[in-house]
Amino acid sequence: MSRRTLIAGNWKMNMRCESAVALAKGVVAAVGSQPSAEVVLCPPSVYLSKVGEAVAGTPVELGAQNVYAADDGAFTGEVNPSMLTDVGCQFVILGHSERRTLMGETDADVSKKLHAALAGRLVPIVCVGESLEQREGDETEQVIERQINGSLAGLDDVRAAGIVIAYEPIWAIGTGKVASPEQAEEVHAFIRQELSKMFGKEVADQIRIQYGGSVKPGNAKELLGQPNIDGALVGGASLTVEDFSGIIAAV
Ligand code: PEP
Repeated sequence: MSRRTLIAGNWKMNMRCESAVALAKGVVAAVGSQPSAEVVLCPPSVYLSKVGEAVAGTPVELGAQNVYAADDGAFTGEVNPSMLTDVGCQFVILGHSERRTLMGETDADVSKKLHAALAGRLVPIVCVGESLEQREGDETEQVIERQINGSLAGLDDVRAAGIVIAYEPIWAIGTGKVASPEQAEEVHAFIRQELSKMFGKEVADQIRIQYGGSVKPGNAKELLGQPNIDGALVGGASLTVEDFSGIIAAV
């Protein structure tokens, strides 16, 4: 089963409009017309339109960092899936650890967002990952199993095949402490086994599982060379053309 490598840049709450557009244009120029991977940029929501214009007609795709699970209505400050597709989004990151820890998002919230995103024809990138304390307490598999089961609750096999999972150990996010390729592969293989239990092997083999946590041009090749690592969700290193395109070039 061949899964196309997916490299996504999570810009988080960084930059101003002008630099966001310049970065998008720089990535477009660097990856060219036939990138070695599928490439997605996830800017802050207020810049989605402008970045969408910068990548329109190129192989670079657009993703949001969050979505609200409701149709139009009285939800001050929120943005729903139709609004995201309206400005050109194809992807949406769900349940990032920063949203789980800082905004209190639960697996049940992620599951609601997942169903809304799929109904709105967005590809969800569902983030899971353990804290340092949980890893040191030998709870990694338990935590991942709970997050996968809770976040993907109620998902059917047909839709499951099109989702993306991002394994992001919290201790590796923004810390410069990357998981070793063996450590990451071990958890990715475990995730695929869990997906196989939920949706069957054929579907599980189609689901892309990205690694995220201090991915840089210098460590990307080894990580992406692991059998169950199908891409990267990149934070810090997605903020410069040089680093982000260096990661894509490592595919
Ligand atoms: C992230 O926040 O999704 C991430 C992986 O960040 P960084 O690459 O900076 O560790």
